[in-house]
Amino acid sequence: MEYRKLGKSGLKISELSFGSWVTFNKQVDSGLAERMFGTCFDAGVNFFDNAEGYEAGESEVVMGKALSALNRPRDSYCVSSKVFFGSNKKPSPTQIGLSKKHVTEACHQALKRLQVDYLDLYFCHRADPDTPIGETVWAMHNLITQGKILYWGTSEWTAEQITEAYEFAEKNHLSPPTMEQPQYNLLDRKRFEVEYGPIFDKYSMGTTIWSPLASGALTGKYLEGIPEGSRVSLEGYEWLKKHMLESERGQERMKKVSTLLPIAQELGVSLSKLSIAWCLLNKNVSTVILGASKIEQLEENLTAQEVLPLLTEQVQQKLSAI
Ligand code: NDP
Repeated sequence: MEYRKLGKSGLKISELSFGSWVTFNKQVDSGLAERMFGTCFDAGVNFFDNAEGYEAGESEVVMGKALSALNRPRDSYCVSSKVFFGSNKKPSPTQIGLSKKHVTEACHQALKRLQVDYLDLYFCHRADPDTPIGETVWAMHNLITQGKILYWGTSEWTAEQITEAYEFAEKNHLSPPTMEQPQYNLLDRKRFEVEYGPIFDKYSMGTTIWSPLASGALTGKYLEGIPEGSRVSLEGYEWLKKHMLESERGQERMKKVSTLLPIAQELGVSLSKLSIAWCLLNKNVSTVILGASKIEQLEENLTAQEVLPLLTEQVQQKLSAI
C-alpha cells in the first residue's frame, strides 16, 4: 500500500480506503464487516468512511461494533463521518443541514455510534443553502479546538462554495477545510478535473474520492443484465437502477462501459481493477474510497495497483477518448 498526504495536511492516508454506503447494515452485517476490516488492515488500509445518513445511522453502528471487536490501536487508523442529511428517517428542522446546532449534535451522535473519542475526518455531506457558510466554518473550527474532530472538509460543494469557506476561515483565523469528497471515476470527470482545477492549485486541497466504479457500472457486470443481489436490485435503490441503467444518460454510459471492457480484456485485467487504478493516476486524488458487498470484491479491488504499470500514455489516451 502507498500512502498519500491529505492535501497540505501532515496526515498520510492509504491511497485505497474503504467505505460503507449502501452496504453496511444492508448487505454487510457486523460479522462480515469485521472480516472486511481485517482484510483492509492486512492490505495496509488506514481510512474508513461513513456518514450519519447511511442507513439512518445504522451503518456507523455496524462499523463501530466491527472496529471495536478488532481492537486495533486507535492511532493506527482513521474514521470519518459526514453531516447534512440527518440520521432520523423523519427529521425535524434542527436534525438536518449545516447549522451550528446540527453540525455539533451530529458529531456527538457519530462518536457514540462509531464508539470512538474523536473523528479523524468530518465532512459537510452537501452544501446547505439555508446556513451561512461562516456559521458552518465556526462550528467545524470549534469541534477541532474541542478535540472532537481533527480535520474537516466538504463533499460535492462547488468550487465557489469551497473558496468562500477558505476565505472566511483565513480572514477569521479559523481552521479551513482540508479535503473534499467528490465523485470521480472514468465516467464522471468534469467537476474534479475542470471545476476544481484552480482550487487544487490555490489551496492544495486533499480529496477522498467516491464511487470509483460508478456504483458497480464500471465492473462491466450490468452489460449482461442485473445480477441477483447487486446494488441496483436492492429495495430502496430503484432510483439508482433508473439512473444507472434505464435513463437515456444511463444507457449512454453503459455503451461507454461496453467499449471500455475490451481494453481491460486486452490488458488481461478486470475492468474493476483498471477503473480503480485509473483514479490513482491523478495526483490530486488523496485516496480512492472502495465499496464492496463481498470479501472477494474487496480482495480484488485491493490489488488494483497491479494495473498501474499497464496504464501507458497510449492506453490512457484510448480510455479518455471513450
Ligand atoms: P463503487 O463505485 O466502487 O461501488 C461499489 C459497489 O460495486 C460494491 O458495493 C459492489 O456492489 C460493486 N462492486 C465493487 N467491487 C466489485 C467487483 N470487484 N466485482 C463486482 N462488483 C463489485 O463505490 P461506492 O459507490 O460504494 O462508493 C465508495 C464509498 O464512497 C462509499 O462506501 C462511501 O463511503 C463513499 N461515498 C460517498 C458519497 C458522498 O456523497 N460523499 C456518495 C457515495 C459514496 P454490489 O455487489 O451490490 O453490486
